[in-house]
Amino acid sequence: MTSGDLADVFSGLVARPEAIGQLRAAATHPVHAYLLVGPPGRGSHDAAMAFAGALLCAEGGCGHCRTCRLALAGEHPDVSLFEPEGAFLLRSDAEEIIRVAARSPVEGDRKVLVLTDFHRVREVGPMLLKTIEEPPASTIFVIVADTVVPELVTIASRCVRVTFDPIPEDMLVSLLVGRGVVREKALAAAQAAAGDFTRASLLVGDEHLASRRSFWAQVPRRLDETGATVAVLTEEALTLVEEAAGPLRVAQEEALRRMEEHVATYGERGSGRRRLEATQRRELRRHRAEELRFGLAVLAGCYRDALAVGGSATSEALASLDAIQRSAENLVRNPSESLLLQALFLRLSPLGA
Ligand SMILES: [Zn+2]
Repeated sequence: MTSGDLADVFSGLVARPEAIGQLRAAATHPVHAYLLVGPPGRGSHDAAMAFAGALLCAEGGCGHCRTCRLALAGEHPDVSLFEPEGAFLLRSDAEEIIRVAARSPVEGDRKVLVLTDFHRVREVGPMLLKTIEEPPASTIFVIVADTVVPELVTIASRCVRVTFDPIPEDMLVSLLVGRGVVREKALAAAQAAAGDFTRASLLVGDEHLASRRSFWAQVPRRLDETGATVAVLTEEALTLVEEAAGPLRVAQEEALRRMEEHVATYGERGSGRRRLEATQRRELRRHRAEELRFGLAVLAGCYRDALAVGGSATSEALASLDAIQRSAENLVRNPSESLLLQALFLRLSPLGA
């Protein structure tokens, strides 16, 4: 939680206070572009919307004026939220961003473009570079990315960077307990959430978390240097990742049902349904990657334990840790999960039963 003395537009955000402090300070004398780095579950996305409000609010983000309220609700006419719908940004996405950036503000003398999921920028980065480094004087960019992938490095160098580090485990636990979760469940969820509040909240209702953890912990003991075992383990892992999305799918169906009810009552307005479906596809994709990352973290724990014991297998354990680390980095780039796991399992050294 943030720690401002008075409630403002940033109050109530779930994120590390350092990042929020940086944004609060930046709102008074902003530059032309910011890059918020960290997945939405660390608060980056909500903070971007709050920051947009702070940039437009006459009081620097009072939290209760019309500007702040509209910005927080994602409804301010001078805050344009751009969320790429596909797996990667397309040329047409970049053209749209350039077009919107060139428009004059509707209400005041400033407008904010919030661009999310920019780790998926791929090859349109160079197209956007000029607009992001020299936007019209009234335009401010707030870009959000899970991490700074190589394709984002040049854009990142033109922005002030604000890093959203993982939320500490004890903070996740107290947030969950504050929302009525039993402490034991909160602790298990927090431990498997890698500092991500969205994931922690989802894991609270996940009965199969413990069995997934034990699958990953058993992998080094099941490896026997045969391709057949690697194939079996890959298959099992992918099935578990798919099953893990169960609670998320339930929540998504509920959200879709609520939207349909709303449409039935108030009529269809704009592209609401299509946007929601695109958002849900993104959530599922993110969930798969996070679930795999969780598995890799459990695996890494096994080899770290082996290292701590010492003995003759030290170099093998180090090589395995290195392979796991590289697989985790590759996950951001949406590779084939099956190929990634097979390649990894082939490189890991078996650990004795
Ligand atoms: Zn305000």
